[in-house]
Amino acid sequence: MIYLKNYINGELIEPLKKQYLENIDPSTGTVFSMIPDSDADDVQLAVNAAKAAEDAWGNMHYEKRAKYIEAIAKGIEARMEEFVAAESLDNGKPLNLARHVDIPRAVSNFRFFATAIQQSSTESHFMEGVGVNYTLRRPIGVVACISPWNLPLYLFSWKIAPALAAGNCVVAKPSEITPYTSYLLSEVCKEVGLPKGVLNIVHGLGQKVGDAISKNIDIKAISFTGGTSTGRTIASIAAPMFKKLSLELGGKNPNIIFADCNFDQMLKTTVRSSFENQGQICLCGSRIFIERPIYEKFKAAFIEKVNALSIGDPSTDVNVGAIVSKPHYEKILSYIELAKQEGGTILTGGESVKPAGRCENGYFIKPTVIEGLAYNCRTNMEEIFGPVVTLTPFDTEEEVLMYANATEYGLAATIWTENLSRAHRMAEKVESGIIWINCWLLRDLRTPFGGMKNSGVGREGGWEALRFFTEAKNVCIRY
Ligand code: NDP
Repeated sequence: MIYLKNYINGELIEPLKKQYLENIDPSTGTVFSMIPDSDADDVQLAVNAAKAAEDAWGNMHYEKRAKYIEAIAKGIEARMEEFVAAESLDNGKPLNLARHVDIPRAVSNFRFFATAIQQSSTESHFMEGVGVNYTLRRPIGVVACISPWNLPLYLFSWKIAPALAAGNCVVAKPSEITPYTSYLLSEVCKEVGLPKGVLNIVHGLGQKVGDAISKNIDIKAISFTGGTSTGRTIASIAAPMFKKLSLELGGKNPNIIFADCNFDQMLKTTVRSSFENQGQICLCGSRIFIERPIYEKFKAAFIEKVNALSIGDPSTDVNVGAIVSKPHYEKILSYIELAKQEGGTILTGGESVKPAGRCENGYFIKPTVIEGLAYNCRTNMEEIFGPVVTLTPFDTEEEVLMYANATEYGLAATIWTENLSRAHRMAEKVESGIIWINCWLLRDLRTPFGGMKNSGVGREGGWEALRFFTEAKNVCIRY
């Protein structure tokens, strides 16, 4: 049995109370590791270590800081296959996805911000004949990063890398459901000799560790990715202390398909945007709106492709792996029942799968496609976060805009059309922080990333992240 440890003050240590939680492999339903069930005392230990390190790290020359961050990227690369296997085992995602998306992206996150900090500059504002202002950007001090289970190391590093690059010391909490790669990351940090206290990783439950982070007065900023209701809880605790908050929350993303689209490209991408990572990506398009003239053609072609997806043991060459946990698996199945009650017709899927052999007790759900639901029923309003999509026909731009904007969320949207004017018109009117036209999940790490409405507050990525993780001071000089 593997026992994971907290990474505090440069050391891998047991939780103070020596309590552990079981960590389950969702593809088999069996416990494969034990993780620290840390509490507020462990968080305080981490905060103390971070505070002790903040002056040296924040005042270190940026090129030297960048070298450490680049060394972390190299350290992950050197153990690539180990990270890939750990991510797949912990999360249930196909090994291939971890190999081609999750872990390479974690490497890119560290590399990108190691470089970005060396290219960053601040503004100056000139007052003709009177004087000049310049903006000084300094690290905040001790900041926290809290991340979810769907893209474990990918999202964990997306926060940690800019926080460190900007000169902060970090207390980080990965999801208790998928802590394994963040533990391996702490081993890498030790290997590369990251100064002690600069990064501290505390494992455990959101209710204990996350809550203690939100309440800790010495943590001045929190970058959080997770569900909207958790974001609301964190904000309600942190706001009275005036902590800086960046919240990346849930989504219920529209995928809008016009009849003039490049059909083959759209079809191929829509299969991915619906079911990649078992539909457990905050950016997946779960509400598919199809212009009526191609509705039947799309439906037939889409179902055929979805039925061809292989599902089973994530360590083999499959398209669809396991759902991350039993409670989440049950939640998704209950939403499928709700869709039936709301009058939906299941076109394919709609049930769990028991792959023969090793994975017969794992949590697998067939990719599910539903039609015949009202645009504003619960199935179409609430985030399911699984391999479930709905199909809805539309006739006009106005109608589909009304459907698309009907939810409380506003994270990402995809628009398929060859009509340039329509693409721009729609991009302007769809209420989403991220709009993909004729593509999906095409990422440029320099761009602002985040959601509107209940999908979040603030933006990450590129300068946005470096701005979030620094305090701006205006310095005004009179001639
Ligand atoms: P949760 O909100 O349940 O958890 C996210 C993180 O917050 C976990 O580390 C969790 O800990 C922790 N947490 C839980 N309760 C608290 C608390 N009271 N105080 C502080 N921290 C807490 O989300 P999931 O892990 O279930 O992730 C899925 C959600 O994340 C979906 O809604 C999805 O849309 C969203 N998401 C958003 C993205 C975006 O960029 N906008 C990207 C990816 C996902 P633990 O689980 O260990 O208890």
